[in-house]
Amino acid sequence: MKKIGFIGLGIMGNPMAGNLLKKGYSLTVYDIVPGKVEEAVAAGAKAGSSSKDVAEKSEIVITMLPNSPDVKDAVLGKNGVLEGAKPGTILIDMSSIAPLASKEVAERAKEKGVVMLDAPVSGGEPKAKEGTLAIMVGGPQETFDEVKDILGVMGASVTLVGDIGSGNMTKLANQIIVALNIAAMSEAMVLAAKAGVNAEKVFQAIRGGLAGSTVLDAKMPLVLKGNFKPGFRIELHIKDLANALDTAHEVGVPVPLSSAVMEVMQALKVDGKGSDDHGGIIQFYEKLAKVQVRQQ
Ligand code: NAD
Repeated sequence: MKKIGFIGLGIMGNPMAGNLLKKGYSLTVYDIVPGKVEEAVAAGAKAGSSSKDVAEKSEIVITMLPNSPDVKDAVLGKNGVLEGAKPGTILIDMSSIAPLASKEVAERAKEKGVVMLDAPVSGGEPKAKEGTLAIMVGGPQETFDEVKDILGVMGASVTLVGDIGSGNMTKLANQIIVALNIAAMSEAMVLAAKAGVNAEKVFQAIRGGLAGSTVLDAKMPLVLKGNFKPGFRIELHIKDLANALDTAHEVGVPVPLSSAVMEVMQALKVDGKGSDDHGGIIQFYEKLAKVQVRQQ
Protein backbone atom coordinates (compact mmCIF):
# COMPACT_ATOMS: atom_id res chain seq x y z
CA MET A 1 0.00 0.00 0.00
CA LYS A 2 1.32 3.45 -0.98
CA LYS A 3 2.24 5.90 1.78
CA ILE A 4 -0.14 8.85 1.66
CA GLY A 5 0.25 12.41 2.91
CA PHE A 6 -2.86 14.49 3.67
CA ILE A 7 -2.74 18.29 4.02
CA GLY A 8 -5.82 20.26 5.12
CA LEU A 9 -7.97 18.58 7.77
CA GLY A 10 -11.06 20.81 7.82
CA ILE A 11 -14.74 19.97 7.42
CA MET A 12 -13.97 17.84 4.35
CA GLY A 13 -10.33 16.78 4.80
CA ASN A 14 -10.84 15.31 8.25
CA PRO A 15 -13.47 12.70 7.28
CA MET A 16 -11.76 11.99 3.92
CA ALA A 17 -8.48 11.24 5.72
CA GLY A 18 -10.47 9.20 8.25
CA ASN A 19 -11.84 6.96 5.51
CA LEU A 20 -8.33 6.30 4.15
CA LEU A 21 -7.17 5.38 7.67
CA LYS A 22 -10.13 3.01 8.08
CA LYS A 23 -9.08 1.23 4.85
CA GLY A 24 -5.62 0.65 6.35
CA TYR A 25 -3.60 3.30 4.49
CA SER A 26 -0.63 4.78 6.34
CA LEU A 27 -1.20 8.55 6.53
CA THR A 28 1.04 11.45 7.50
CA VAL A 29 -1.03 14.59 7.99
CA TYR A 30 -0.59 18.33 8.36
CA ASP A 31 -2.79 21.37 8.96
CA ILE A 32 -1.81 24.89 10.03
CA VAL A 33 -4.20 24.43 12.99
CA PRO A 34 -2.45 22.02 15.41
CA GLY A 35 -5.74 20.81 16.95
CA LYS A 36 -6.81 19.39 13.57
CA VAL A 37 -3.58 17.37 13.35
CA GLU A 38 -4.13 16.06 16.90
CA GLU A 39 -7.66 14.94 15.96
CA ALA A 40 -6.33 12.96 12.97
CA VAL A 41 -3.50 11.46 15.07
CA ALA A 42 -6.13 10.24 17.55
CA ALA A 43 -7.78 8.47 14.58
CA GLY A 44 -4.51 6.70 13.66
CA ALA A 45 -2.54 9.16 11.45
CA LYS A 46 1.08 10.23 11.95
CA ALA A 47 1.70 13.93 12.56
CA GLY A 48 3.70 15.88 9.98
CA SER A 49 5.43 19.09 11.03
CA SER A 50 4.92 20.91 7.69
CA SER A 51 3.73 20.28 4.14
CA LYS A 52 7.39 19.64 3.24
CA ASP A 53 7.69 17.04 6.00
CA VAL A 54 4.48 15.32 4.82
CA ALA A 55 5.82 15.17 1.23
CA GLU A 56 9.18 13.73 2.38
CA LYS A 57 7.33 10.85 4.06
CA SER A 58 4.79 10.12 1.28
CA GLU A 59 4.49 8.69 -2.24
CA ILE A 60 1.13 10.35 -2.81
CA VAL A 61 0.23 13.76 -1.35
CA ILE A 62 -3.41 14.86 -1.11
CA THR A 63 -4.32 18.50 -0.44
CA MET A 64 -7.79 19.66 0.71
CA LEU A 65 -7.48 23.40 1.27
CA PRO A 66 -9.84 26.38 0.92
CA ASN A 67 -8.70 28.24 -2.23
CA SER A 68 -5.98 28.84 -4.85
CA PRO A 69 -3.65 30.96 -2.62
CA ASP A 70 -3.74 28.27 0.10
CA VAL A 71 -2.83 25.53 -2.39
CA LYS A 72 -0.02 27.68 -3.82
CA ASP A 73 1.24 28.35 -0.29
CA ALA A 74 1.14 24.69 0.80
CA VAL A 75 2.64 23.33 -2.44
CA LEU A 76 4.91 26.06 -3.83
CA GLY A 77 5.65 28.07 -0.67
CA LYS A 78 8.37 27.85 1.97
CA ASN A 79 8.29 24.43 3.65
CA GLY A 80 5.82 23.42 0.97
CA VAL A 81 5.19 20.07 -0.74
CA LEU A 82 7.64 20.69 -3.58
CA GLU A 83 10.53 21.26 -1.14
CA GLY A 84 10.05 17.76 0.25
CA ALA A 85 8.67 15.69 -2.63
CA LYS A 86 10.83 13.11 -4.42
CA PRO A 87 10.55 12.82 -8.23
CA GLY A 88 7.72 10.40 -9.01
CA THR A 89 5.52 11.68 -6.21
CA ILE A 90 1.86 12.12 -7.20
CA LEU A 91 0.11 15.28 -5.95
CA ILE A 92 -3.69 15.12 -5.85
CA ASP A 93 -5.24 18.50 -5.12
CA MET A 94 -8.84 17.87 -4.06
CA SER A 95 -9.54 21.52 -3.13
CA SER A 96 -11.95 23.56 -5.27
CA ILE A 97 -9.71 26.22 -6.83
CA ALA A 98 -9.44 28.23 -10.07
CA PRO A 99 -8.65 25.94 -13.05
CA LEU A 100 -5.86 28.33 -14.06
CA ALA A 101 -4.25 27.97 -10.63
CA SER A 102 -4.34 24.15 -11.00
CA LYS A 103 -2.44 24.49 -14.29
CA GLU A 104 0.14 26.84 -12.73
CA VAL A 105 0.78 24.56 -9.75
CA ALA A 106 0.98 21.50 -12.03
CA GLU A 107 3.61 23.25 -14.22
CA ARG A 108 5.77 24.02 -11.19
CA ALA A 109 5.30 20.47 -9.85
CA LYS A 110 6.38 19.01 -13.21
CA GLU A 111 9.73 20.85 -12.92
CA LYS A 112 10.37 18.74 -9.78
CA GLY A 113 9.24 15.49 -11.39
CA VAL A 114 5.93 15.57 -9.48
CA VAL A 115 2.76 14.75 -11.43
CA MET A 116 -0.43 16.49 -10.38
CA LEU A 117 -4.13 15.73 -10.69
CA ASP A 118 -6.85 18.26 -9.84
CA ALA A 119 -9.64 16.27 -8.21
CA PRO A 120 -12.26 18.48 -6.55
CA VAL A 121 -15.31 16.90 -4.97
CA SER A 122 -19.03 17.40 -4.62
CA GLY A 123 -21.33 16.06 -1.95
CA GLY A 124 -20.42 18.01 1.16
CA GLU A 125 -19.65 16.84 4.66
CA PRO A 126 -22.23 14.00 4.83
CA LYS A 127 -20.83 12.32 1.70
CA ALA A 128 -17.25 12.98 2.83
CA LYS A 129 -18.09 11.02 6.00
CA GLU A 130 -19.77 8.19 4.07
CA GLY A 131 -16.98 8.04 1.48
CA THR A 132 -19.52 8.63 -1.29
CA LEU A 133 -18.31 11.92 -2.79
CA ALA A 134 -18.50 12.66 -6.53
CA ILE A 135 -14.88 13.22 -7.59
CA MET A 136 -14.10 15.03 -10.89
CA VAL A 137 -10.53 14.65 -12.07
CA GLY A 138 -8.17 16.40 -14.49
CA GLY A 139 -4.73 15.08 -15.48
CA PRO A 140 -2.93 12.27 -17.28
CA GLN A 141 -4.82 8.97 -17.76
CA GLU A 142 -1.92 6.81 -16.44
CA THR A 143 -1.68 8.84 -13.19
CA PHE A 144 -5.47 8.64 -12.81
CA ASP A 145 -5.31 4.84 -13.24
CA GLU A 146 -2.61 4.62 -10.54
CA VAL A 147 -4.68 6.44 -7.89
CA LYS A 148 -8.25 5.57 -8.90
CA ASP A 149 -8.61 2.99 -6.09
CA ILE A 150 -7.45 5.50 -3.49
CA LEU A 151 -9.94 8.09 -4.75
CA GLY A 152 -12.56 5.34 -4.69
CA VAL A 153 -12.15 5.08 -0.90
CA MET A 154 -13.39 8.69 -0.62
CA GLY A 155 -15.88 8.75 -3.47
CA ALA A 156 -18.73 6.75 -4.96
CA SER A 157 -18.01 8.15 -8.42
CA VAL A 158 -14.55 9.00 -9.72
CA THR A 159 -14.49 10.46 -13.24
CA LEU A 160 -11.53 11.54 -15.34
CA VAL A 161 -12.88 14.54 -17.24
CA GLY A 162 -9.80 15.66 -19.20
CA ASP A 163 -6.43 17.38 -18.83
CA ILE A 164 -5.21 19.21 -15.72
CA GLY A 165 -7.70 21.97 -14.79
CA SER A 166 -10.70 20.03 -16.14
CA GLY A 167 -11.59 18.77 -12.66
CA ASN A 168 -11.91 22.32 -11.36
CA MET A 169 -13.71 23.48 -14.52
CA THR A 170 -16.27 20.74 -13.86
CA LYS A 171 -16.51 21.80 -10.23
CA LEU A 172 -17.25 25.41 -11.26
CA ALA A 173 -20.10 24.12 -13.43
CA ASN A 174 -21.31 22.12 -10.43
CA GLN A 175 -21.16 25.15 -8.13
CA ILE A 176 -23.12 27.35 -10.55
CA ILE A 177 -25.86 24.72 -10.73
CA VAL A 178 -25.98 24.28 -6.93
CA ALA A 179 -26.00 28.04 -6.16
CA LEU A 180 -28.78 28.75 -8.66
CA ASN A 181 -30.79 25.77 -7.41
CA ILE A 182 -30.64 26.95 -3.80
CA ALA A 183 -31.62 30.48 -4.85
CA ALA A 184 -34.56 29.18 -6.92
CA MET A 185 -35.71 26.97 -4.03
CA SER A 186 -35.44 29.92 -1.62
CA GLU A 187 -37.35 32.34 -3.84
CA ALA A 188 -40.16 29.82 -4.38
CA MET A 189 -40.48 28.70 -0.76
CA VAL A 190 -40.53 32.26 0.61
CA LEU A 191 -43.31 33.05 -1.87
CA ALA A 192 -45.32 30.00 -0.72
CA ALA A 193 -44.81 30.83 2.96
CA LYS A 194 -45.75 34.52 2.57
CA ALA A 195 -48.88 33.48 0.64
CA GLY A 196 -49.84 31.38 3.64
CA VAL A 197 -49.12 27.93 2.19
CA ASN A 198 -47.21 25.43 4.36
CA ALA A 199 -43.68 25.22 2.90
CA GLU A 200 -43.12 21.69 4.24
CA LYS A 201 -46.21 20.50 2.35
CA VAL A 202 -45.03 22.33 -0.79
CA PHE A 203 -41.71 20.48 -0.46
CA GLN A 204 -43.43 17.11 -0.06
CA ALA A 205 -45.78 17.83 -2.96
CA ILE A 206 -43.12 18.81 -5.49
CA ARG A 207 -40.05 16.74 -4.58
CA GLY A 208 -41.11 13.79 -6.78
CA GLY A 209 -41.84 16.01 -9.81
CA LEU A 210 -39.66 17.91 -12.25
CA ALA A 211 -38.72 20.53 -9.62
CA GLY A 212 -37.38 17.79 -7.34
CA SER A 213 -33.60 17.71 -6.95
CA THR A 214 -30.73 16.55 -4.78
CA VAL A 215 -30.38 20.18 -3.66
CA LEU A 216 -34.04 20.38 -2.64
CA ASP A 217 -33.83 17.09 -0.71
CA ALA A 218 -30.60 18.07 1.04
CA LYS A 219 -31.41 21.68 1.90
CA MET A 220 -35.18 21.94 2.54
CA PRO A 221 -35.18 19.75 5.70
CA LEU A 222 -32.46 22.02 7.15
CA VAL A 223 -34.28 25.22 6.11
CA LEU A 224 -37.47 23.94 7.75
CA LYS A 225 -35.53 23.51 11.02
CA GLY A 226 -33.78 26.89 10.62
CA ASN A 227 -30.51 24.95 10.77
CA PHE A 228 -27.80 26.86 8.88
CA LYS A 229 -24.80 25.26 10.58
CA PRO A 230 -22.19 24.49 7.84
CA GLY A 231 -21.86 22.18 5.84
CA PHE A 232 -20.66 24.35 3.03
CA ARG A 233 -20.09 27.93 4.11
CA ILE A 234 -21.53 30.83 2.07
CA GLU A 235 -17.98 32.31 2.10
CA LEU A 236 -16.65 29.23 0.31
CA HIS A 237 -19.45 29.39 -2.25
CA ILE A 238 -18.59 33.08 -2.85
CA LYS A 239 -15.03 31.89 -3.53
CA ASP A 240 -16.30 29.34 -6.07
CA LEU A 241 -18.60 31.85 -7.81
CA ALA A 242 -15.73 34.38 -7.95
CA ASN A 243 -13.62 31.71 -9.67
CA ALA A 244 -16.57 30.88 -11.97
CA LEU A 245 -17.12 34.53 -12.94
CA ASP A 246 -13.38 35.12 -13.58
CA THR A 247 -13.08 31.95 -15.65
CA ALA A 248 -16.31 32.65 -17.59
CA HIS A 249 -15.16 36.18 -18.45
CA GLU A 250 -11.70 34.94 -19.44
CA VAL A 251 -13.18 32.51 -21.95
CA GLY A 252 -15.90 34.94 -23.10
CA VAL A 253 -19.08 33.58 -21.51
CA PRO A 254 -21.58 35.96 -19.87
CA VAL A 255 -23.13 34.37 -16.74
CA PRO A 256 -25.99 36.68 -15.68
CA LEU A 257 -27.71 34.36 -13.21
CA SER A 258 -24.44 33.45 -11.46
CA SER A 259 -23.70 37.18 -11.05
CA ALA A 260 -27.10 37.78 -9.48
CA VAL A 261 -26.69 34.97 -6.95
CA MET A 262 -23.16 36.19 -6.21
CA GLU A 263 -24.66 39.53 -5.09
CA VAL A 264 -27.23 37.72 -2.93
CA MET A 265 -24.35 35.91 -1.21
CA GLN A 266 -22.39 39.16 -0.85
CA ALA A 267 -25.40 40.73 0.89
CA LEU A 268 -25.59 37.77 3.29
CA LYS A 269 -21.88 38.10 4.04
CA VAL A 270 -22.29 41.82 4.85
CA ASP A 271 -25.19 40.78 7.09
CA GLY A 272 -22.80 38.56 9.12
CA LYS A 273 -23.96 35.27 7.63
CA GLY A 274 -20.84 34.32 5.65
CA SER A 275 -20.13 31.36 7.91
CA ASP A 276 -23.66 29.95 7.58
CA ASP A 277 -24.33 26.94 5.35
CA HIS A 278 -25.23 27.92 1.78
CA GLY A 279 -28.77 26.66 2.53
CA GLY A 280 -28.88 29.94 4.49
CA ILE A 281 -29.28 31.81 1.18
CA ILE A 282 -32.98 31.65 2.00
CA GLN A 283 -32.39 34.20 4.79
CA PHE A 284 -31.84 36.89 2.11
CA TYR A 285 -35.31 36.26 0.67
CA GLU A 286 -36.87 35.91 4.13
CA LYS A 287 -35.54 39.34 5.09
CA LEU A 288 -36.83 40.96 1.91
CA ALA A 289 -40.30 39.42 2.26
CA LYS A 290 -40.45 39.63 6.09
CA VAL A 291 -41.46 36.00 6.50
CA GLN A 292 -39.70 32.84 7.72
CA VAL A 293 -39.93 29.42 6.10
CA ARG A 294 -40.02 27.03 9.07
CA GLN A 295 -41.71 23.80 10.12
CA GLN A 296 -45.17 24.50 11.53
P1 NAD B 1 -12.20 24.13 5.83
O1 NAD B 1 -11.93 25.60 5.93
O2 NAD B 1 -13.10 23.48 6.83
O3 NAD B 1 -10.82 23.31 5.82
C1 NAD B 1 -9.63 23.76 5.24
C2 NAD B 1 -8.47 23.36 6.14
O4 NAD B 1 -7.24 23.73 5.51
C3 NAD B 1 -8.49 24.05 7.50
O5 NAD B 1 -8.39 23.07 8.52
C4 NAD B 1 -7.27 24.98 7.47
O6 NAD B 1 -6.67 25.16 8.74
C5 NAD B 1 -6.36 24.24 6.50
N1 NAD B 1 -5.35 25.07 5.84
C6 NAD B 1 -5.52 26.27 5.24
N2 NAD B 1 -4.37 26.70 4.69
C7 NAD B 1 -3.46 25.73 4.94
C8 NAD B 1 -2.08 25.56 4.59
N3 NAD B 1 -1.42 26.49 3.88
N4 NAD B 1 -1.45 24.44 5.00
C9 NAD B 1 -2.11 23.49 5.71
N5 NAD B 1 -3.41 23.59 6.06
C10 NAD B 1 -4.07 24.69 5.69
O7 NAD B 1 -12.76 23.90 4.35
P2 NAD B 1 -13.58 22.64 3.79
O8 NAD B 1 -15.04 22.89 3.96
O9 NAD B 1 -12.97 21.37 4.31
O10 NAD B 1 -13.27 22.78 2.23
C11 NAD B 1 -12.03 22.42 1.64
C12 NAD B 1 -12.17 22.51 0.12
O11 NAD B 1 -13.20 21.61 -0.30
C13 NAD B 1 -12.59 23.91 -0.38
O12 NAD B 1 -11.95 24.20 -1.57
C14 NAD B 1 -14.08 23.77 -0.56
O13 NAD B 1 -14.58 24.68 -1.53
C15 NAD B 1 -14.18 22.32 -1.03
N6 NAD B 1 -15.47 21.67 -0.76
C16 NAD B 1 -16.12 21.82 0.43
C17 NAD B 1 -17.36 21.21 0.61
C18 NAD B 1 -18.12 21.39 1.92
O14 NAD B 1 -19.31 21.03 1.94
N7 NAD B 1 -17.51 21.89 2.98
C19 NAD B 1 -17.92 20.43 -0.40
C20 NAD B 1 -17.24 20.24 -1.58
C21 NAD B 1 -16.00 20.87 -1.75
